[in-house]
Amino acid sequence: MLDIQKIRADFPILSQKVNGKPLVYFDNGATSQKPQVVIDAISNYYQEINANIHRGVHTLSQLATDAYEVSRAKVQNHINAKFPHEVLFTSGTTFGINLVANGFASILKPGDEVLVSALEHHSNIVPWQMLCEKTGATLKVIPMNENGELIISEYDKLLSTKTKIVTVNHISNALGTINPIKYMIDKAHEVGAAILIDGAQAVPHLKPDVQALDCDFYAFSGHKMCGPTGTGILYGKEAWLNKLPPYQGGGEMIKEVTFEKTTYADLPHKFEAGTPNIAGGIVLGTAIDYMNEIGFENIQKQELELLDHATKQLLEIEGVRIFGTSEAKTSVVSFNIDGIHPYDIGTIIDKLGIAVRTGHHCAQPIMNFFGIPGTIRASFSFYNTKEEIDIMIDAVKKAKMMLS
Ligand code: PMP
Repeated sequence: MLDIQKIRADFPILSQKVNGKPLVYFDNGATSQKPQVVIDAISNYYQEINANIHRGVHTLSQLATDAYEVSRAKVQNHINAKFPHEVLFTSGTTFGINLVANGFASILKPGDEVLVSALEHHSNIVPWQMLCEKTGATLKVIPMNENGELIISEYDKLLSTKTKIVTVNHISNALGTINPIKYMIDKAHEVGAAILIDGAQAVPHLKPDVQALDCDFYAFSGHKMCGPTGTGILYGKEAWLNKLPPYQGGGEMIKEVTFEKTTYADLPHKFEAGTPNIAGGIVLGTAIDYMNEIGFENIQKQELELLDHATKQLLEIEGVRIFGTSEAKTSVVSFNIDGIHPYDIGTIIDKLGIAVRTGHHCAQPIMNFFGIPGTIRASFSFYNTKEEIDIMIDAVKKAKMMLS
């Protein structure tokens, strides 16, 4: 059993008041809050070892470089990558996906196909559309059903030898659906396609094992898992990362530069041009340590209890419809109330100190599928409590009364 009050004390922001009320933070899908160890690690870095990495022989530069590489090894260990150089530091999921999509521009030909799913965040749609425009490849969409699940029999039909890459999220940010990615990875490989998993919404809740999954790429952001903003990871299998061209040119990513020709550095530096977010990369390791100390089994247990409690309470309110009703779901409830705009509910409950997200959640195709402008999304983390859910339920009832 987690001692939630003890855990909450690790997060200074959670004891704040917002609009005169105790903060109830249910916008974890957008970004998680940060524990004191993470906040301290950022200032410790700048106070004690700040220097540029991989550049100087001086002591501070070596300390910073060592700390950065220790963090890379931590991530490698956390996701069970085979080699540390398969772990690229990025600024977030968006960057990682764009890196891969950009690389595939040198591989795709007209007539090739890219498969995305109907459940994607815009950052896992737009880069692939841009890629298809550039190469003449065709974008195909794996459809979804009313429960917010991918229709896997349709996926099977869409796959062919024309498919060069499949891209799908591990967990949907808008609905919380957990996709059957292991099956999808194996099926993609049967036709010789590569597959990228957008793990942005998965890593706050579970520990992916990239070798067991056998995915070719796995992208995620640090800020959704207790780490700093502007941090992220792209895991890529060594063979793929060797095959793809660099994404950005600049310092750090070269072996030798002349005006006639430049040769590129070995992995991972080939993909890490310029001075990175050094503090962020190091502190992402601190965040991962923190989450592992709490333990992902404990995290999942707590979050599923919260999901269950919120779902039951919400369904007791007349006119509530929950979007995303799959059995395989993480701690997200996306809902609307008949005849009321989600934005209006969000605005009223904000006045009561409750932070939820309202709108299309950067997933407009999902909203179009349901024929709605958006939803109210409450996304729970392990540091949330049932009492906070009760506060939200009361607030939603009040808002409903005011607006109907
Ligand atoms: N994919 C999914 C499923 C997401 O939820 C998000 C963040 N909302 C992203 C991609 C983009 O992540 P970032 O903005 O950190 O790059």
